This record gives sequence, C-alpha cells and structure tokens, in this order.
Amino acid sequence: MMRDFVPPQRLLLGPGPSMVHPRVLQALAAPLLGHLDPAFLGVMTDVQHLLRFVFATANPFTIAVSGTGSAGMEAAIVNMVEPGDAVVVGVNGVFGTRLATVIERCGGKAIRLEIPWGQVIPTEMIESALRRSGPVKAVVLVHAETSTGACQPLEAIGSLCRDHNALLIVDAVTSLGGIPVDVDRLGIDVCYSATQKCLSCPPGLAPLTISPRALSAIKGHRTPCQSWYLDMALVAEYWAEESRAYHHTAPISMIYALREALRLVEEEGLPARVARHRLNSEALVAGLMELEFLPLPPAEHRLPMLTCVTLPPHIDEAAIRRQLLQIYGLEIGGGLGPLKGKVWRIGLMGESSTEANVLTFLNALEEMLIQFGWLSTPGIALHAAARVYSRTGQKEY
Ligand SMILES: *Cc1c(COP(=O)(O)O)cnc(C)c1O
Repeated sequence: MMRDFVPPQRLLLGPGPSMVHPRVLQALAAPLLGHLDPAFLGVMTDVQHLLRFVFATANPFTIAVSGTGSAGMEAAIVNMVEPGDAVVVGVNGVFGTRLATVIERCGGKAIRLEIPWGQVIPTEMIESALRRSGPVKAVVLVHAETSTGACQPLEAIGSLCRDHNALLIVDAVTSLGGIPVDVDRLGIDVCYSATQKCLSCPPGLAPLTISPRALSAIKGHRTPCQSWYLDMALVAEYWAEESRAYHHTAPISMIYALREALRLVEEEGLPARVARHRLNSEALVAGLMELEFLPLPPAEHRLPMLTCVTLPPHIDEAAIRRQLLQIYGLEIGGGLGPLKGKVWRIGLMGESSTEANVLTFLNALEEMLIQFGWLSTPGIALHAAARVYSRTGQKEY
C-alpha cells in the first residue's frame, strides 16, 4: 500500500501558486453539492458578485472559467478572434509570446509589438500599429508580465481602441487582487485572471469578464467558436441566473474555495490590499539592492507582487535556489526563456505578501550568501528592509 502523502512545509514566494489562507483550505473540504443544486447556484451568484467587485466592473458576464489562467487566456482569444482577424499583441515576455501563439492557432493574424523583455509597450507604438494596420479586431496586452516583473500601463489604451473600433483584451492573471484592475474605467472589453496568484486560492479557475460591447461582437461572428468547452456563449447559459442550463460539471470545490478567497479580499478591502503589496515589495527591493540583485524593469514599471531581479555575476543561482528550498522550505522562481539562469522571480502575492515573509527571505538569502563566501557583512539587506518598514510607520500585515 502506498503511504500517505504529507506535503513538506513550504513558504511559497515564487511566481504562483501563492500561500493560501486556512479558511480557503477549509472551504475546499466542504461536502459536495450537485452543480444544479439551488444551494450551489447561490454560491455561483456570490462568486459573480465578488468577481465584479475585484474587477471593478458592472459586466453581467463575469464568471470563473473551469481551468487555470491559460484556460482564461484561451477562452478570451478563441471567443473573440475569428480566422483572418488582425490582432495587435504586445510581446515583451513569456505570456505575450504565448498569446501570439494562441491568436495564430485561432487563425488570427498576430501583429506582434516586440519590445525587450523587462520593458513595457509604449502607447504610441500601439497607436501607430492601429493606424497602419487597417481594421484590427483587438489589442491584447499583458497587464502584469510575470516572466519579467513589468507592469504594462493601461491608461488611455481603452479609448484608443474605441477610436479604432478595436476590442481591448487584457491578461490580468498576476495583477488581479494586487494592483487595481479597473475594467470599466479603463475600457477593457475582455479581462481574465487566475486564482493562484494575488487571489491566493489554489490553481484551477480563471476569472473572466466580458463587456456588453465584446459580447455583441461574439454574436456577430460568422463562424461558431472553435472550442466547444470554452465557448462562452454556451457557458453563459450555465452561469446566467435565468437559465442555469447544464454545459459541463462545475468544479464545485474550487468554486467554494474561490468564494472564500474573494471574501477575504473583500474583508481586507482593495485599497488596503494594494498598499500592502506595495509596501512589502518596496522593502524587498530595498534589501535585494543592497545585495546587488537589481530589478530588471525600470522603477516606474515594476510590479509589486512579482520582483524580477538580475543576479550578481559570481553566484550559482540554481544552487542557492535549491538550498533555499531544501534548508528553508522557501520557494522562489528562476528565469524563463531567454532569462533562464539570469534572473530570479520573487513573488509576494496575496497571502504571501507579508513583512514576516520579506524578512524571512532576506535573512535566508544573506545566510546562503555568507555560507558560499559571497557576502561578508551580514544584516545589510535586513536593515534596508527594516528601514522601509520603520519609515512608513505601518504595522505588520
Ligand atoms: C501564470 C500566468 C498565466 C498562466 O496561468 P496558468 O494558471 O499557469 O495557466 C498567464 N498569464 C500570466 C501573466 C501569468 O502570470
């Protein structure tokens, strides 16, 4: 007989999943209901209300897609892009690259706006692409590029898209719940996220909201959605309070968990949550800079929930990450694609974003560096972080 599996204790400070609150774990263990049980339909309605709150939208179509963030991405693209459609896509990291691939698999023509990784797509570049390219179906941008730590500005892009009769599709997988994602104010037509980043829920659902303007674009499509499972016109029949028609079995336990995770977001309040993410990342960056781990994106475009730093040339990054996991139970992320071996990605997402975690990580890192003989003055990173906390005078979250 196989033995019980007891997961080792971990502090999750990577690019997701993040730490999960005990209340969310408890929700996962609640007894199942049928997916058409009126009691469960009430839970779905709660999730929709709470998702509209975090997305800051009044969109009636606001649901949780069954699947991880990539299912949200695929749902957004496969429902909006028809064969032959031109789509402008920002490509400055792994997720922009993946989006371009998905667009092409849907038969769309991806107009890639390529920018070095770590930088953001300038508004003028989007504008000139819209002006040069003839009719464009949509502009697709990654709000928080988790592979580089860069935060894409979205101000003014919504109205630019409207001027050119294009839809605005935004990947908010890592941003939602950590920085404001004001779907209605920014004029975002389709926005998707995932549960395991700043919402601090296990992976498995992809929040998705679609504007009435984008829904009517779907209705005007010449061809049926290429995906049956992710056909949002069909899925809408299950989520709409008036119909609740069976499409596929909802992942019941995950929806319980998401409801509880969103309730925690609501209890904290979005402004307090955003301030917490900002403060802890400021302290983390102050400490890392003392150790010569320098942030990849310029200061004005850095994400608070994901800090991507280049490494001092002399260190063996894989060995340190391995030891952080083995000795301290502490997970951080390495680089992806062209940044493999060149950067670290430290996530302070949702429940993971605390003063205690920042100080634990910096302390562990300093100890490793001393042990390998790469640091001679212990405490410099911790002091820099502590200065940030004492300067702001805010108490620990
Ligand atoms: C994590 C992530 C995804 C993919 O989500 P999965 O849950 O891994 O499928 C997509 N976009 C961004 C920006 C991400 O950070």
